[in-house]
Amino acid sequence: SQFSQFNLHERILKAIDALGFEEPTAVQQATIPAALDGDDLYIIARTGSGKTAAYLLPILQQLQLDESKPLAPRALVLSPTRELAKQILDDAQQLARFTFLKAELVIGGEDFKVQAAKLRKNPDIIIATPGRALEQLAASNLDLTQVRTLVIDEADRMLDMGFSDDVIRLAEACSGQPQTLLCSATKGNAGLRRMIDKVLEEPRWLEL
Ligand code: AMP
Repeated sequence: SQFSQFNLHERILKAIDALGFEEPTAVQQATIPAALDGDDLYIIARTGSGKTAAYLLPILQQLQLDESKPLAPRALVLSPTRELAKQILDDAQQLARFTFLKAELVIGGEDFKVQAAKLRKNPDIIIATPGRALEQLAASNLDLTQVRTLVIDEADRMLDMGFSDDVIRLAEACSGQPQTLLCSATKGNAGLRRMIDKVLEEPRWLEL
């Protein structure tokens, strides 16, 4: 498929084929190479644009090539809602199905201790809502020091829901200076610009 232009690992290309994706969407065309370059990105894109795969594919590619095997997650995706987090997990599992990479949910409404036990199994990717992520962090069940890629999905909705400070605290807990990708459906207001200033470093703007 036309996804071969991105030099993705064959196990990832196989999953893309299995999903029946033939051409990258406009968001994927812009985001995948920019993310693989390592830049911080501010991605303005709507749901339905293929934004989820746009940020998950570079994460999977980087993790697939990384042989360091730390005993802590290497990617964190923050979602404003549990429902979106579950959809992102579903996409991540589909795209990672031919790799050995594992994703885990850290969301409210699920048993705290069961979740902690899953975290001890060393998942590579965490998909989380901010409140529960902070609780698991405070309980020392979640170690964010090895995170290399941080995604803040639907950042404008995060702000609307009052999660701005939580997101900033989680970004600060990712102390290894990760690459950060922020997605928003809108250009946002002063609150979003404050978040961008706090969490992104010289971001490239991808307006799609
Ligand atoms: P999203 O905007 O990430 O919520 O994706 C919207 C839908 O498009 C999801 O059902 C994806 O599985 C699907 N999708 C993502 N990328 C592609 C692609 N390149 N070709 C066809 N479908 C896609």
